[in-house]
Amino acid sequence: MKNVAILGSTGSIGINALKVIEAFPKHFRVVGLSSFSNISLLEKQVRKYSPSYVTVVNPKKSDKLDKSLSKRGLKVLSGVEGLNIIASHSKVDILIVAISGAAAIYPLLAGIEAKKHICLANKESIVMAGDIVMERVKRQGLSLIPIDSEHSAIFQCINSSRIEDVSQLFLTGSGGSLHKTPKAHFSRLKVDQVLKHPKWKMGKKITVDSATLMNKGLEIIEAHHLFDIHIDRIKLLIHPEAVVHSMCEFVDGSVIAQLGITDMKLPIQFALTYPDRKETPFAKLDFANIKNLSFAQPDTMKYPCLSLAMAAAKIGGTATAVLNAADEVVVGAFLNGKIGFLKIPAIIEKVLLNHRYVESPTLDQIFESDKWAREESARFI
Ligand code: NAD
Ligand code: MG
Repeated sequence: MKNVAILGSTGSIGINALKVIEAFPKHFRVVGLSSFSNISLLEKQVRKYSPSYVTVVNPKKSDKLDKSLSKRGLKVLSGVEGLNIIASHSKVDILIVAISGAAAIYPLLAGIEAKKHICLANKESIVMAGDIVMERVKRQGLSLIPIDSEHSAIFQCINSSRIEDVSQLFLTGSGGSLHKTPKAHFSRLKVDQVLKHPKWKMGKKITVDSATLMNKGLEIIEAHHLFDIHIDRIKLLIHPEAVVHSMCEFVDGSVIAQLGITDMKLPIQFALTYPDRKETPFAKLDFANIKNLSFAQPDTMKYPCLSLAMAAAKIGGTATAVLNAADEVVVGAFLNGKIGFLKIPAIIEKVLLNHRYVESPTLDQIFESDKWAREESARFI
């Protein structure tokens, strides 16, 4: 029996992780949960899964949690400190990092320091501070088990041979909600149209990122750090059927692909049970229903965010933290109706051009760049 803590348990990945754990009651037990401020869902989760520790990150909300829950032996923590306590607690065997945004960095580092089995969904931490995170992972002799579906696929394929025999990675993407929309229509797009993802049900920010292909840009940066493969050897393929979750090509020309249904429970289960595999209680791929698998090069003229992400990746240092922060601010402004869709890449580009890069930043310098990029983006909104 393994004790699992889920940071960000009230989010889309967190909820799916609890469904996977529920399906394997003999193997996994929930010992820690956290939310930024979703008290009502967190209370429901506490009643159902009886963890020992819970963190309400927003300190203004931590005393709102039903007091009677403490009588059942629950310890209520707050702030980033609470996340760090759960991440490094001796009772925790497996740590699922399903928090969104930069806030995941510190509990992730705490989990690495405490040598936990880490299942990582959060991509911002790697995009912002991949060099620092991976250096500590290496030093501790760990591997991060990715939950992001493309990286779970690459992790499964890449381990079939030696890393030095990998020639390139093919990271796939369905093309998002605007795959069939001509660029000429982009200036008049409504938020609702952009949020209609054809294949994956996800949070709003990541769904907009899928429509601009920024999500794929962030994922290429994530893959570069997680697998230590040069950016130029990671190729994006648009694959609208979303059956092949990514592929790895080896020097002899063999390509190994991972296929599966479009359900995040699949990569979550893989990460939790790794290195074992367990019979899934969820749906499996039905090949009789797959008529076609198609792959195409991305249209970089249609999706400037992809080129911006590649440019930031090549600069490295604080550039990817600036890219990530600017994107978060402008996507938020788009969702709130403050800017049009085409302003998303336009503002990110201006912010990247105005940034004075630090080549090998400390964590403090990364967070300073993040803060600067948020303020700079707000100036253009
Ligand atoms: P979400 O917005 O649905 O949930 C985020 C969770 O993090 C919530 O529990 C929230 O309370 C918590 N949180 C938010 N801000 C916080 C803060 N400042 N401090 C502490 N906790 C905070 O997000 P999601 O879609 O579940 O995605 C989580 C992460 O996984 C993201 O980094 C995302 O890019 C990545 N990811 C998600 C998917 C997906 O299918 N949803 C797929 C691949 C990768
Ligand atoms: Mg993904």
